Formats: sequence, structure tokens, C-alpha cells
Amino acid sequence: MSRTKRLLVENVAWANELAQVDAGFFSTLAQGQSPGVLWIGCSDSRVPAEAITNAGPGELFVHRNIANLVPTDDANTMSVLEYAVGVLRVAHVIICGHSGCGGVRAALAGVPDGMPHLTRRIAPLCMLAHGHLAELGTLPEAARADRLAELSVLEQVRQVRATALVRHAEPRPRVHGWMFDLHSGRLRVLDDEDAADGANGPAALQAA
Ligand SMILES: [Zn+2]
Repeated sequence: MSRTKRLLVENVAWANELAQVDAGFFSTLAQGQSPGVLWIGCSDSRVPAEAITNAGPGELFVHRNIANLVPTDDANTMSVLEYAVGVLRVAHVIICGHSGCGGVRAALAGVPDGMPHLTRRIAPLCMLAHGHLAELGTLPEAARADRLAELSVLEQVRQVRATALVRHAEPRPRVHGWMFDLHSGRLRVLDDEDAADGANGPAALQAA
């Protein structure tokens, strides 16, 4: 069976299974969405937002791009943020990076020739790496990319919090920076606005 045929067959199995558990599932789903979370993650096939968080349809509003960047001059990314904050009124924005990110590695090692879109896309990552050369230069190659991925998540969090969209939203969504570790399958909290709330803070999440 071809890969695409298999996807279609699996879709039928998935839909049937959900309908058997809850006959009204899809009619409820069709009525609208009110996800509490905007997830901004990497396009990497190994970091599927819903799968790694056990989230079902309707739970996450998702935007994925190479290296989970949030360029404030990009209409695609910003329209997602605008809709999620302004219309869906999400309570949380999660920016999730991951270990072994190819987009981040390309920012350090260079983009293959003849890829102008990718080159332009990861230019902010190259600038970020340049600004942290002293720290990154002390690390072995693999650790260097993972540290840059962390620094980038923190930078995206800072940029999203600074947007007028988020600052003026009422209620203002909380913006979180997470990292996904491909080796363990675990999420790690880098920056969390819930930290002051105790039970929901990073320590609690890490221990869970
Ligand atoms: Zn990636």
C-alpha cells in the first residue's frame, strides 16, 4: 500500500474509532472551536504537537514552521497569533523548540546552496547565533545547536510578549517557552509565566 493510501485508510479507522467511543464527537467538533492554547512549534515530523501532548481535535490551535520562529513581519505567523489572541482568545501561547532541530543546525552550519527562502527564513537565527558566539563557541557541536534552539525559544517568547497583540489583549495570554527532547520524548519548561502560581510552575511540570 502506498504511503498516501495508508494515510487515507488510517483516517477512516481513526474516525470510526472516535465515533464508536462518542457518537456525537464529530457533530460537536463541527459546531466550532475554542482551544485554550496556541501552539507554535517546528515543522519537524518528529514533533507533532497533538501527539506529544495527548491532545485531541479542538484542543490546540497550531502553527508550525521551520525552527518555530515568530517573525513579527511575517503575515503568516502574525495572522495566526492575531486570530488566536483576538478571536479565539487563547489563555496560553506555547512556543516549543526541540533538540536536533535541522533549521537551527542550518543557522550554524549554513543553508545548502539554492535555497533562498530557507536562507531568508532563518536569518534571524543566524543573527541570534552571532550575538551569542562567546557562549556557543565553548560547546561541542551537538550541544551548540541545542543551546541555540533554547536561546531562540526564549527570544521568540520575548518577542511575542512584546507584540501589541499580546500586550493589549484582555485577558492577556500567558506566553510559555518549552523544549522537546527527541531522546526522551519529554517536554521541558524554559520560560513559564505560570511560575509565580506555584502549583502550575515549572518545578511542578518538570516533576510531573
Ligand atoms: Zn526543528
